[in-house]
Amino acid sequence: MNVKRGAKAVALGFVVSRGSAKPDAISTTALRMMKIGLGRGLESGYEKRTKAAACISVDFDVTREERYPWNRKGTAALIRLSEAHGIPLTWAVCGKTAEEDPKAYESILASTVKQEIGVHTYSHIYADNTTEEEYERDIERCIEVLGVSSRPISFVFPKNREGHFGLLRRLGFKSYRGAHRVIGAPVVNGGLWNIRPVYYVDPKSLHAAGLIKRFIDACIARSGVFHLWTHPWSLSINGDVDKMVSEVMEPVLSHLEEKNKAGVLSLSTMGRLSNFMEATA
Ligand SMILES: [Zn+2]
Repeated sequence: MNVKRGAKAVALGFVVSRGSAKPDAISTTALRMMKIGLGRGLESGYEKRTKAAACISVDFDVTREERYPWNRKGTAALIRLSEAHGIPLTWAVCGKTAEEDPKAYESILASTVKQEIGVHTYSHIYADNTTEEEYERDIERCIEVLGVSSRPISFVFPKNREGHFGLLRRLGFKSYRGAHRVIGAPVVNGGLWNIRPVYYVDPKSLHAAGLIKRFIDACIARSGVFHLWTHPWSLSINGDVDKMVSEVMEPVLSHLEEKNKAGVLSLSTMGRLSNFMEATA
């Protein structure tokens, strides 16, 4: 473990040991340096009386030609992991990518673990430089391509460029993933539940499995949501996903499964969390 990662793990250790008590100055400062906030937890807990929840969202988008083979390998690996550990994933699907790589997209629908299908627009367009009409047309086109029986309720803004919240609510969306990382319960913003992210996985996380597990433990201690996100193609190192799978994703999903079996963590999706929050708000 390198020094920086070691310091982060130590800081998270403080968060875990303090539990839901007011965090001390050291942990708040350390978390601020890691650019992660500490929000209120959900003391009443999530499903099955577990105090904390986990969710993994995957942005299924290929915006550069060379990423298609990586997208395919990454998707296959993520489905395998999801099935091996019984953990559902939330897929923020870009309609154009689903159309251009139908085999990868259909493997998500065919999974033996029910995956959540969310929307990442059709053509990966940005909410802050398109009109509401353009954004609506693009989203409807995406939903058509997805071919799912019920309308998606989870949304991920391409490049985190947020906007048109009223439209999204009108189209039936209930959850989105904001840009800012926070350990805490979901919060409502613009009529949607922000299932705030905690950790992003890409090749820079190759040696971070230990640190990510600390984040999971901190979310459990704080009754928050551990929200990890990635892209299928960001698991690729020189075109190969095996290293990221065995060194990062496998140990992290094992840890989630273990905590779920211990009864302290719900394994959820963005949509399920927003439905739960809405029902209990
Ligand atoms: Zn994207």
